[in-house]
Amino acid sequence: MNVAPRAWMDADLEMLRDTARRFFERECVPHEARWTAQHHADREIWNKAGQAGLLCASIPEEYGGGGGSFLHEAVICEEQAGAMVAAFSNNVHSGIVAHYILAYGTEAQKHRWLPRMATGELVAAIAMSEPGAGTDLQRIKTSAVRDGGDYIINGSKTFITNGHHANLVVVAVKTDAAAGAKGVSLVVLEVDGLAGFRRGRILEKLGQKTLDTAELFFDNVRVPAENLLGGEEGKGFAQLMQQLPQERLLIAVGSVATMHRAIAETTAYVRQREVFGKPLMALQNTRFKLAECQTQATVARSFVDDCIARLQRGELDVPTAAMAKWWTTDTNCRIVDECLQLFGGYGYMTEYPIARLYADVRVGKIYGGANEVMKEIIARAMDR
Ligand SMILES: Cc1cc2nc3c(=O)[nH]c(=O)nc-3n(C[C@H](O)[C@H](O)[C@H](O)COP(=O)(O)OP(=O)(O)OC[C@H]3O[C@@H](n4cnc5c(N)ncnc54)[C@H](O)[C@@H]3O)c2cc1C
Repeated sequence: MNVAPRAWMDADLEMLRDTARRFFERECVPHEARWTAQHHADREIWNKAGQAGLLCASIPEEYGGGGGSFLHEAVICEEQAGAMVAAFSNNVHSGIVAHYILAYGTEAQKHRWLPRMATGELVAAIAMSEPGAGTDLQRIKTSAVRDGGDYIINGSKTFITNGHHANLVVVAVKTDAAAGAKGVSLVVLEVDGLAGFRRGRILEKLGQKTLDTAELFFDNVRVPAENLLGGEEGKGFAQLMQQLPQERLLIAVGSVATMHRAIAETTAYVRQREVFGKPLMALQNTRFKLAECQTQATVARSFVDDCIARLQRGELDVPTAAMAKWWTTDTNCRIVDECLQLFGGYGYMTEYPIARLYADVRVGKIYGGANEVMKEIIARAMDR
């Protein structure tokens, strides 16, 4: 079937797409079963991704990055999602943490961390969520108390993507326990050999089983005050909020790529599976279901492409990014569910990609801001 050309693609991005596609197929897909069993990818995948130019693609060359834009991150994200490789979160590493450092870091901080993130020497994580504070981030309890030229950090974080491999962790802390959102700051920790830092277990998840989601603990961890992102206390909440449209759009980009993979898997299956002497594809229900899925995936891609164009022009606002996030993740779950149904019992077997997708996509409605929160953001903008 003809897919409409993407207005924002060009020859440079096509080359990157090709590189990314080959990378995920050769370096990741063959290891999926082993990585699933050990609950994490091999650490060296980060260095390989760095060598292939897939890390920090949207970070300027002067900081060791690829010198590209959000379009480069989008291409890599689409190829990773399309290949069903969850093994390492480049979205968190390059799409989120690198951009916090680029946007708010001092020159010294950018030169110190970004080049090593681009090679994969540093693996980055963002640690906001705590056992008692997820959606309501103002309630975080992890504290950073000034002691001379240092901060002393105490607390714990949970659900941290890349948490097992990460050696550069941006931690949301309270520098002023009494000040609510204005008391939140972001501190960057190089955690290798850092006294008082401990990783908890890799968490057992419903899906994305190759991804090292972990708990992190901080017990009187001492870091120099110069590790405060941007150098000014109390800016953390505003820093987190400003990056949200881009982060949420990346989730939407991945969701759309997954929809198309699910539909391709299912179309191939129903064309060869026979029921009552003819291919499953010959039944009107199958045809209509797939036609509906294809339509929704196509509409989703158009909307997300429009959001990408807006982001590139600096015009993607928070409510529109929230629409993209909730609607694509919700639609993704519905499409994968419809597709799984067409596989019958085989769709329930984890050796079939559609079963894995079913488990993998569910979290899209929860992380990056729960979808209910997205709707609240949209409604608030309508109620002014
Ligand atoms: C696989 C995975 C990876 C993650 N990676 C990271 C990471 O790298 N770093 C990090 O810091 N965190 C990460 N998270 C945490 C994630 O951001 C939180 O799970 C999410 O913000 C929801 O917080 P919570 O789980 O505490 O749920 P709660 O805040 O307890 O919310 C529970 C439910 O309540 C409802 N709800 C909440 N608020 C509202 C509201 N205002 N209006 C209406 N309904 C509402 C929603 O249905 C929501 O799902 C990850 C989570 C998962 C599952």
